[in-house]
Amino acid sequence: MHEMSAHEAVNEYFVDAARIIELDEEMYPVLTSPYRELTVQVPLRLDDGDLLVARGYRVQHNGARGPYKGGVRYHPTADLEEVRALASLMTWKTALVNVPFGGAKGGVEIDPGPLSSRELERLTRRFTMAISHVLGVYRDIPAPDVNTNAQVMAWMMDAFSSKAGYTPAAVTGKPVDLGGAPGREPATARGCLYILSAYARRHDIDLAAQRVAIQGFGNVGSWLAHELDRVGVKVIAASDVQGGVHCDAGLDIAKLRELTRQRRPLSEAEGVDRITNEELLAIDCDVLVPAALGQVLTEDNADDVRAGIVLEAANYPVTPNGDKLLGDRGITIIPDVLANAGGVVGSYFEWVQNIQQFTWKESRFNDELEDIMVAAFEDTHALADRHGCTLRQAAYAIGVERVASASRMRGYV
Ligand code: NAD
Repeated sequence: MHEMSAHEAVNEYFVDAARIIELDEEMYPVLTSPYRELTVQVPLRLDDGDLLVARGYRVQHNGARGPYKGGVRYHPTADLEEVRALASLMTWKTALVNVPFGGAKGGVEIDPGPLSSRELERLTRRFTMAISHVLGVYRDIPAPDVNTNAQVMAWMMDAFSSKAGYTPAAVTGKPVDLGGAPGREPATARGCLYILSAYARRHDIDLAAQRVAIQGFGNVGSWLAHELDRVGVKVIAASDVQGGVHCDAGLDIAKLRELTRQRRPLSEAEGVDRITNEELLAIDCDVLVPAALGQVLTEDNADDVRAGIVLEAANYPVTPNGDKLLGDRGITIIPDVLANAGGVVGSYFEWVQNIQQFTWKESRFNDELEDIMVAAFEDTHALADRHGCTLRQAAYAIGVERVASASRMRGYV
């Protein structure tokens, strides 16, 4: 079987859903291609005097329901094709959770690993200025994603504000002391937990008895491990880019998080077995959580998965061929647009608070997040039951229907 590009794959999921809701085919070309794609040159003078010239992208997929919204990633694979796919995923995700945003994504094709903090800052400011004419509080609002964090968002906000005046609401995922929202950093992971809990309640699964394996131990993966640990769910395996660790009795999450905080690899943990990332995906567990990069479960390894549930914390971790093989084996996939939507819902709360200049308590943030996530889960589950389709098809169907309807009402077609 041929594996498609990321963008082709997201569009395949779109077409699947569009057929379920009997969407007028006239809408297909409108909703499968982005509204605007911006490619920019990002020259970076390195500390040693050398010049590195990277490519940067901002893709705005659909803005019918509100300003474009989506993260920015720094990664060697963050090319236009990948950013395009991730931008359209954001459109379906913001619509599914019903927050007033469209979908966008940004990326710089670079490995930030070897960069110093000053180089990272220069890169961020240069990229932000290059795309600043398409950004803005009611235009397009970036957020963190792979290899970007609150500090990077602070530089983006500062660069944008140097042009437009102090504008905290133009960027989300900022440090709390700089207009960030208490609760935003763990929001993606908390959202994953709310969704997994709702699924367990619905299917009479004892959440506390589940054994979880998590690929990726960055913002999403490490916070999810923390949240699961907090509610008494065992995380038996975890990994970062260099490999993973496994312990059937349950990993010591606080110790692993401390290693990550010190920028040391998980493989330095003591008293655990070392495993590769491939072995992690095939480990004997109940819930498998890809929380790193896309396209990790494919036709080549879907048959090795031993979990009963795949919770897609990462964006687009399962290819269409992988999705089919897992589905045929009766493995439930809780799709990215639902599972990891807590991040963009948290960003929505941060944006609202910045606009109103009023900070919520973290308890309010979490309560509102849970309400939205559980409602999206219930809507998705109900549609899946009604149409006898998968959760992914149902989640996309809800998103696609809302975006198609808004696009028509706005007069896009
Ligand atoms: P991050 O940069 O904080 O962490 C990424 C983690 O993945 C790190 O532990 C890294 O070592 C690991 N990793 C990188 N390459 C890997 C590889 N080849 N194999 C195994 N592990 C690898 O990124 P993040 O913000 O946690 O994002 C992770 C995923 O979640 C991405 O798919 C992202 O799009 C998605 N996501 C993030 C957010 C958010 O709020 N940050 C929201 C929604 C979805």
